[in-house]
Amino acid sequence: MKHARTRVLVTGGAGFLGSHLCERLLADGCDVICVDNFFTGSRDNIAHLLGNHRFEVIRHDVTHPLSVEVDQIYNLACPASPIHYQLNPIQTVKTSVFGALNMLGLARRLNVRILQASTSEVYGDPTVSTQAEEYRGNVNPIGPRACYDEGKRCAETLFFDYHRQEGVKIKVARIFNTYGPRMHPNDGRVVSNFIQQAMRNEAITLYGDGGQRRSFCYVDDLIDGLVRLMDTPDEVTGPVNLGNPHEITIRELAGHVQSMLGSSAGFRHLPLPEDDPMQRCPDISRARTLLDWYPSVDLQTGLRRTVSYFAGLA
Ligand code: NAD
Ligand code: UDP
Repeated sequence: MKHARTRVLVTGGAGFLGSHLCERLLADGCDVICVDNFFTGSRDNIAHLLGNHRFEVIRHDVTHPLSVEVDQIYNLACPASPIHYQLNPIQTVKTSVFGALNMLGLARRLNVRILQASTSEVYGDPTVSTQAEEYRGNVNPIGPRACYDEGKRCAETLFFDYHRQEGVKIKVARIFNTYGPRMHPNDGRVVSNFIQQAMRNEAITLYGDGGQRRSFCYVDDLIDGLVRLMDTPDEVTGPVNLGNPHEITIRELAGHVQSMLGSSAGFRHLPLPEDDPMQRCPDISRARTLLDWYPSVDLQTGLRRTVSYFAGLA
């Protein structure tokens, strides 16, 4: 008997990560339903997929219930950059919390697996390095980042309560800073800002002294981690950190980008945003053990590919 193809719902499928995930799932032979309200995502991100008869797009806001028949759900819908999620913080909380409730309700009704795109922001401004999944975090619940951090934390709570109370098959990925082609050019994130500034030979905007540390994961590696997590046995729920454990300072990142693009415009120092985490680096032992996953794209290679993408937009 011929097996039916897996039909997968990707919320936030027209965004940066979502569009890469849709592409990967189609390449793996799945049917894909992309749901998006196009707040930060765009049709351009998925234009190359629209001709594929196994790909469907539904304009829908996940804060409202949705009824579709699918075999798996990836819940990515939520603005991810500080500029975008702070534009309408109440909507950001609603997207995380009502979005999780609606998608978990759907997963329960259909009895299918659901993966949540959670974030390293659940650790807030961490007081330990590196951050393992057991770390409970250091989040300011009333600051400007709280709409995102606490929204995502509440979504994780809902995932685990639906799992314990209703038996829903959940997977929670805690995603650390990810970059690559199709990052939104105006979302203010550090990689897209620095590349575009260096391309125009403008001074690089360093917030604070640039001594804050981050680790950057190339998008293809991250997507591979998400798919591996979805494919684990039912008893694997996570949370599982996914990110690149190579930590650098923001000043070092600026230096890499400037030398790659031959920019000599120097730095423009701006104030450090409130509650900006001073360090962030994943402990990925759990992902290595459970998923046999380790990022394979180094920063230079990933930055080169991202530069090519932005050069194509110019
Ligand atoms: P993105 O902003 O490019 O994508 C988010 C997508 O969700 C967009 O297409 C947007 O239009 C859509 N969306 C937003 N609100 C919605 C709503 N109410 N209903 C339907 N669609 C809605 O961001 P991204 O970088 O692709 O992030 C995707 C997911 O991964 C997010 O949940 C984010 O929190 C998580 N994440 C990303 C990173 C990263 O570094 N990119 C890090 C940690 C976690
Ligand atoms: N940052 C910076 N200049 C910029 C944009 C960001 O110095 O033009 C810094 C920011 O203060 C933070 C880091 O780069 O410390 C990463 O910022 P981003 O918004 O990309 O992601 P975050 O990890 O803060 O969510």
